[in-house]
Amino acid sequence: MDRYAVIGNPVSHSLSPAIHLRFARQLGEPIEYTALLAPLDDFAGEARRFFDGGGRGANVTLPFKIDAFRFAGHATQRAWLAGAANFLALEGDGIRADNTDGIGLVADLVENLGVRLEGSRILIVGAGGAARGVIAPLLEAGPLRMVIANRTAERARELAQRFAAKGSVEAVALGAIPKEEFDLVLNATSTSTHGQQLALPAHVLRAGALAYDLAYGPGAASFLSLARAQGMRASDGLGMLVEQAAESFRLWRGKRPATAEILAELRSRSA
Ligand code: NAP
Repeated sequence: MDRYAVIGNPVSHSLSPAIHLRFARQLGEPIEYTALLAPLDDFAGEARRFFDGGGRGANVTLPFKIDAFRFAGHATQRAWLAGAANFLALEGDGIRADNTDGIGLVADLVENLGVRLEGSRILIVGAGGAARGVIAPLLEAGPLRMVIANRTAERARELAQRFAAKGSVEAVALGAIPKEEFDLVLNATSTSTHGQQLALPAHVLRAGALAYDLAYGPGAASFLSLARAQGMRASDGLGMLVEQAAESFRLWRGKRPATAEILAELRSRSA
């Protein structure tokens, strides 16, 4: 059986093994997929052992997405742009890095949640590894405007410059978000993962708009209930997780799994 894994720290909570094994059953693909805990200071050692031991591909999660990009011998253009990778594949005798987070988010927004990104006004809060992965695919969908707001404004400015060739992006500090109507507010900070409340200016949460937390599970509940209380539609990032996994599976195996059933099942389990 071909071997795949998700590498992270911590990683025991990861839903990726269950999702990929489900995809494998659905498509009759004989794969093994496990979770590997890498030491915080030695992602490369763990990844090297995995690929030397016959591994064919890996997903990479917190906090190793930048390490994964550096580990690979070559990378796709979108991984270069992000400077971070959640996907590694053995190709010939080398390792290729890619980033499927953005395509996973766009698929969840457009196909699962029925969002029209073209002509929309998007606010991304956060400028870490996840934001890096999603900005280019969102800009490619043709929004009217994108604002990146971050606690450390300098990091937002770096990202706005990095992606300037892809579209118009404004960077601001968290407390200086312009008073305008956003259609989509993305929480790409790690606050939900760390059980913290994201402090946003009151005008940002506007009835009728969609609030989307890239995090999923109980941690996302506080941001989502705050948004719902303002009359917003709200979603966590479970769909993004499943869709980025489907894209990873397609890149490794050449077949794209259907996602609706597994997503509904994971949602009903967490309800
Ligand atoms: P990261 O690289 O550590 O970045 C963290 C970001 O959160 C930074 O912008 C940081 O601001 C900001 N932040 C942290 N604490 C804050 C606070 N108290 N108030 C305001 N901002 C704060 O993390 P990441 O890799 O980007 O992950 C972000 C989230 O995306 C996580 O919840 C992760 O689980 C989720 N994610 C989900 C998927 C999925 O498939 N659904 C995929 C990828 C990531 P500073 O720059 O000022 O420190």
